[in-house]
Amino acid sequence: MGALDQLLVVQDHDTRADQLRHQRDHLPELEQARTETAAIAAIDAERTRLGVELDGIRSAERRLEDEATMVQEKAAGVERRLYDGSVVAHKELEDLQADHRMLTTRQAQLEDQAIELMEQAEPLQTELDGLDERRATHQASLDGLHAVIEAACADLDARIAVELSARDAAVVDVDPAVLRDYDSLRTRLGGVGAARLDGRRCEGCHLEIPPGELDQVRKAPEDATVFCPQCGRILVR
Ligand SMILES: [Zn+2]
Repeated sequence: MGALDQLLVVQDHDTRADQLRHQRDHLPELEQARTETAAIAAIDAERTRLGVELDGIRSAERRLEDEATMVQEKAAGVERRLYDGSVVAHKELEDLQADHRMLTTRQAQLEDQAIELMEQAEPLQTELDGLDERRATHQASLDGLHAVIEAACADLDARIAVELSARDAAVVDVDPAVLRDYDSLRTRLGGVGAARLDGRRCEGCHLEIPPGELDQVRKAPEDATVFCPQCGRILVR
């Protein structure tokens, strides 16, 4: 085992921790949860729109019903005067009868209009109920996804912690200056800071090192840190 082999052990743990983090951040359930959340938001927007429309219809209906009640009370007053004997003049009685007919006709009109509005509201209410049902289905699915995500994250976090503590144990055998180079290369080069030299090929960039440079790499003292002339990673010989 060369002096830098331990660095490859560190690299292995770092790579595995990176893969686990990537897995945790790209769980398919996260995307599904985003889809469900968007569906719920769309349904909520539609519910709000329908709710406003329905409220408008219902308050118009209440106004008509209130007016119909008022007219009905007026008609009842006229009817009392017609039959309580307080009015005896023929002309006045005829006028009261005409008023009474006018008021009961008006009352019937108002009631018909209120019924019309009630009928308009019905399909909207059915639609709103349907939206509530669909929302509940999406919410249940979202709750299920959150439970799956939580469990998967806990599992992956535990596995990441295992990799990181193994890394901590491996890192004590690596020269601090080499480790600094490695960490900065790893940051710059997509998570891989050290790679094995496999024959003529660097396992970091998978390119063959030209013969002249390969010769220099091979001739370097065993404890010297050498870098891949192609990608710049630390080469473990
Ligand atoms: Zn390379």
